[in-house]
Amino acid sequence: WEVTTLLKLNHLSVHYGAIQALKDVNLHVEEGEIVSLIGANGSGKTTTLRTISGLERKSGGEILYQGKDISKTLASEIVKLGISHVPEGRRIFPRMTVFENLEVGAITRKDKENVAKDFQRSFELFPRLLERKNQLAGTLSGGEQQMLAIARGLLARPKLLLLDEPSMGLAPLIVEEIFNIVRDINAAGTTVLLVEQNAHLALKYSNRGYILKNGYIDLEGYSKDLVNNDEVKKAYLGG
Ligand code: ATP
Repeated sequence: WEVTTLLKLNHLSVHYGAIQALKDVNLHVEEGEIVSLIGANGSGKTTTLRTISGLERKSGGEILYQGKDISKTLASEIVKLGISHVPEGRRIFPRMTVFENLEVGAITRKDKENVAKDFQRSFELFPRLLERKNQLAGTLSGGEQQMLAIARGLLARPKLLLLDEPSMGLAPLIVEEIFNIVRDINAAGTTVLLVEQNAHLALKYSNRGYILKNGYIDLEGYSKDLVNNDEVKKAYLGG
């Protein structure tokens, strides 16, 4: 049984003009893991995901995906390579139905029979979406919109799912429901890189975690160790 590295950020830096949002970030994600990226507002979590998926450009370093540097690859190609990004704030299309939103997720795929199977699988994972498949997405609850955003991301059949703040603005019960589904998605073979401001949740559901502070990696380790780390407890877990 061999562990294979799916994603590796080597000395990654990103600038927005004069502001350096990421500073020499080193991070790796092994196949089959759920890895969390934790940090305060503005620490660079979203920038990390956006740079991996080709929406921002690095100023230094490299992004290795299955051993190949994708830091100059177009976002549209990166999706086809198997990286799917569920953005912060969900970004569903409110005036389209649930079903139409899901169709957008499969837009780059040519294997139409498998797409049909994946629709079915999505509705098994998220039965609420099946009940509401002809409803306009803008009329869904926040939790349901998050489910839709994740389901849409899965329809690209990713090897690596990038999840940006899935808990944002949601009640605790629905958050646990969503994270349990993320765990199921992972158990079925999808690797997950999870950005969360809620460190409790992130460390509960991930194997390993990284803590970003002002654009650099401050701490990293197994999630079970990070929850017991005094610095983490004090700064991120409310003492
Ligand atoms: P949040 O949880 O608030 O989204 P974050 O950890 O995801 O925070 P980023 O959104 O990655 O942080 O932002 C990192 C830094 O880069 C911040 O200082 C932010 O102000 C800056 N930044 C982000 N996007 C841009 C942009 N498009 N132009 C200029 N600066 C930006």
